[in-house]
Amino acid sequence: MKNLLIATKNRGKIEEFRRIIEEFGGQIDLKSTLDFPHLVDVEETGSTFVENALIKARAYAKQSGLPSLSDDSGICVDALNAMPGIYSARWAGSHGDDQANLKLLLDQLSHVPSERRTGSFRCAVALVFPDGREFVEEGEMRGRIIESPRGSGGFGYDPIFVADGFQLTTSEISAAEKDRISHRGKALRAITPLLLVELDR
Ligand code: IMP
Repeated sequence: MKNLLIATKNRGKIEEFRRIIEEFGGQIDLKSTLDFPHLVDVEETGSTFVENALIKARAYAKQSGLPSLSDDSGICVDALNAMPGIYSARWAGSHGDDQANLKLLLDQLSHVPSERRTGSFRCAVALVFPDGREFVEEGEMRGRIIESPRGSGGFGYDPIFVADGFQLTTSEISAAEKDRISHRGKALRAITPLLLVELDR
């Protein structure tokens, strides 16, 4: 079976990707950076989701010698000129403080009326082979930012995001429903057929 390294320690992302590969009938031995604790984390110094995803996938393909897939994602708010964008995970300063990030975003939008609270989650996934082949796909989920958090599922900005066509936040819908409409689900579904072909070359 072919190996693929997913450049993440996030078990939710690993399982989401496993489910999508199964949808396509692929048989891949999925590894994550949890299986390679000696690999060194890379700094995300790019200025776009695509650049950051490529930086990570290149670094892990080089270090591990395995085809590597990485993603970079965030929330882009129209009234804030597409910010927090690539800074979503560290918007309030320290990396990964979901509560603080969400609170700061709500504060920044406190005077923005509901019709202008639009935005999207965006995701880029990059697939890099040790021989230099590189592929990138992107996905977007448009919606709006509500005024106070609702729901206990998901992570990050999910409790304040309502996707277009929904009334519930992405924190209130089921994980399966979110996979179906999400930025990450779309990007992963776009890259998986490519991945299955390229792994066999
Ligand atoms: P990363 O791509 O894992 O670095 O995630 C970037 C940040 O974007 C996360 O820490 C979250 O704050 C935010 N984010 C990305 N995708 C989602 C999502 O599906 N729901 C909620 N927040 C998200």
